[in-house]
Amino acid sequence: MRCPYCDHDETQVVETRESDEGGVIRRRRRCLKCDKRFTTYERVEITLPAVVKKDGTRAEFEPAKLRASMQLALRKRQVSVEQVDAALERIQKKLLASGLRELPSTRIGELVMRELKRIDKVAYVRFASVYRSFEDVDEFRQLIQDI
Ligand SMILES: [Zn+2]
Repeated sequence: MRCPYCDHDETQVVETRESDEGGVIRRRRRCLKCDKRFTTYERVEITLPAVVKKDGTRAEFEPAKLRASMQLALRKRQVSVEQVDAALERIQKKLLASGLRELPSTRIGELVMRELKRIDKVAYVRFASVYRSFEDVDEFRQLIQDI
C-alpha cells in the first residue's frame, strides 16, 4: 500500500477494526517515511458469473433486475420484501457456489422459478408463463398440473 501523500511504499498498520456488519475491515496506516496517517478499507469482492443471453451476448448479473421481475410476478400477492430478499440471497449463493464464470440466462430463470414455486404458486405460474413465453404449450400445461 503506497502512502497517498509521499508515494512511499512502506506503511505500518496502527489499527485494524472490523465494521459492525463484519463485511469491511478498516485499517489505519502510518507512512514510515513521512509519518502521515491514512485509512484503507478492505472488503470481499464477490464476482458473480456473467449472464449469457439467448442471442449470445453477455451481461453483468444484476440483482436489481431480478428483483424487479420477481416483484412483477408477485404483484398483489401477500409476500413480504424479506421473503423476496431471502429468495434473491439463495439465488446468488447458488450462483456463487457454482464457481462458474458465466452461465445462460435460462439457468437463472430456472432458479427464479424454483424460488417462486416455494414462496408463491401464483407468482410462479405468472413468471413461468412469461418467461417461457408459451413457446411450448404442453410444457406450460404440464407446469400448471404440477402445482
Ligand atoms: Zn508518506
